[in-house]
Amino acid sequence: MNRATPSSIPDILSLIDEARNDKRPLWFTGSGTTPIPDDHRVVSTLGLAGIVDYRPDDLTVVVKCGTTLEELDDVLRERQHTAVLPETSPERTVGGVIASGASGYRRHRYGPTRDRVIGVTIVTGYGEVVHAGGQLVKNVTGYDIPRLVTGSNGALGFIAEIALKLWPDSSAPRTLSVEDPALLATVLYQPTAVLETERGGSVYLSDADVPTEQGPAVEGYSWPMPLDQSVVIAVNVPARLVPEVVARVRDLGASRFVAQHGVGVVDAGWSTVDETQIVALRTWAESIGGSLVVRRRGPLSASFSRWRAIPSTAAIQLRLKKLFDPDRICNPGVLPGGL
Ligand SMILES: Cc1cc2nc3c(=O)[nH]c(=O)nc-3n(C[C@H](O)[C@H](O)[C@H](O)COP(=O)(O)OP(=O)(O)OC[C@H]3O[C@@H](n4cnc5c(N)ncnc54)[C@H](O)[C@@H]3O)c2cc1C
Repeated sequence: MNRATPSSIPDILSLIDEARNDKRPLWFTGSGTTPIPDDHRVVSTLGLAGIVDYRPDDLTVVVKCGTTLEELDDVLRERQHTAVLPETSPERTVGGVIASGASGYRRHRYGPTRDRVIGVTIVTGYGEVVHAGGQLVKNVTGYDIPRLVTGSNGALGFIAEIALKLWPDSSAPRTLSVEDPALLATVLYQPTAVLETERGGSVYLSDADVPTEQGPAVEGYSWPMPLDQSVVIAVNVPARLVPEVVARVRDLGASRFVAQHGVGVVDAGWSTVDETQIVALRTWAESIGGSLVVRRRGPLSASFSRWRAIPSTAAIQLRLKKLFDPDRICNPGVLPGGL
């Protein structure tokens, strides 16, 4: 496989220039959680790693895209700060997480990852270096480009650097086993997370807010292991319907699941599954205004799309794609609707 590992923005500009001349698309990859399609020139982000500027007193940090979650956490931990990125799989890169708009389990308390992206430096598909936002939490005039780029999956260009807002980390995290996670998600004030897995419910609390009448709490946060089955999906629904999704994935014999109560996301994994049942689950999720996204397709047929077929915003997304990447060289086909 033809793989380039740029170590500077001029390197990325050269790769983009070449790709436009050769009409050969690029595929950006961090730690490579997302499978790499054939026929692309692979551009690894791992040559662009490290902290650019950490300002503890401002609670902001700027990192290069190939920095791993572990590398970033190691630096932030010294000052008891957190960027609240996904808690598991520390080998993942900050660029990969931002490009896929991935949030961790602490979304219940801190909101989604995109809320903490306050600046980006991107190299567009037409070869312009754009610095948007910065290290001020309020510094956007006009369109919010950092938010646009978060979740773009690399379709608008290469994300070279990211500025993140930080939070003080919990000094006394606790994990509590609970009988009725759905109820607790609606009555506790800002729990860090309320999760349910095939093993039962857990509430994750910070500092002093442990309701002692619930029983003894375990020190620290004990997060579920990542789902590694061959088929992994995420079902997104209004938060009140999480118990119904849990019942449905249990009925379908999911080997593992992690439900985020109070948020409305349920990840579920199977070693083998009847595709028609996943189709039915997607039909139901969409009928109530939700969605089903395939994270790992395993034996699911190619005709079962990763996302809902065509999003209602497809036309404007296509125009944005054309503006940022007129020659379709940055991750073409990665977005819903084949954009
Ligand atoms: C739509 C979607 C939603 C997801 N949501 C979650 C979630 O909520 N929670 C969770 O834990 N995991 C989620 N994931 C899994 C997600 O792949 C990982 O959290 C994370 O992106 C993996 O990091 P990585 O370094 O392996 O990235 P990779 O898998 O290598 O890359 C992920 C995507 O980002 C692109 N990309 C990577 N780096 C750059 C860059 N510097 N510039 C431009 N594009 C780049 C890649 O082309 C690819 O499309 C989601 C994945 C997808 C596709």
